[in-house]
Amino acid sequence: MLLAGLQRCSLVDYPGQTCCTIFTQGCNLCCPYCHNGELISARCRNPVEEAECWDLLLRRKGKVGAITVTGGEPTQHTDLPEFLATIKSLGFLVKLDTNGTRPGVIRKLLRENLVDCIAMDVKSPLDRYEEAAGRLVPVRLLRESIELLKSCGIPTEFRTTVVPAIHTADDISEIARELVGGQVYYLQSFEPGHALSPHLRETAPPSPDFMRTCRDRAGEWIDTYVR
Ligand code: SF4
Repeated sequence: MLLAGLQRCSLVDYPGQTCCTIFTQGCNLCCPYCHNGELISARCRNPVEEAECWDLLLRRKGKVGAITVTGGEPTQHTDLPEFLATIKSLGFLVKLDTNGTRPGVIRKLLRENLVDCIAMDVKSPLDRYEEAAGRLVPVRLLRESIELLKSCGIPTEFRTTVVPAIHTADDISEIARELVGGQVYYLQSFEPGHALSPHLRETAPPSPDFMRTCRDRAGEWIDTYVR
């Protein structure tokens, strides 16, 4: 694993649990609104040694119940299954944050009981992913991941970062329609100050009114909350 950072205590990354958060380096997308732009490259300026990670987790045993593995995109790493197996062997619950572009990896992790919770970003209506994700992504891969999360039997959530320069309320409704049968959908506000794209940094975040409209439109299809 190429690790870019460790957070020893988070109250928001795992539903109902205090957790540690592990940031992996490298992402196969290039979302213009990404606020973790330094994690996209496959190279890391200041990588964290795995030994440091295990040391932290051993010290946090009994203090946090869960570990969230986020990125970047964790499913890019071929040794992710072994990494998660080691975390689980220490007695922690494991949550995976993913962009859903590698359903084969998600399927394997589910089959081997290596995850207890999954959050998947759904970045735009599936047939128009390039603008929001910065890369073309085959719709069938995204749909396969979405269906895995709907049917896997563990806690899951879908999330969209709402960017007014990219999304309309109709777009959010269209995404939500794809998520029917899922457990919960969270909308989070785009933060211009940290955006990867200089152009988006000059644009406004969504207004509270727009977020409420998006929530109400999405709520026609799936339980939806604004974060
Ligand atoms: S927001 Fe996009 S580019 Fe940034 S880490 Fe997530 S999937 Fe990758």
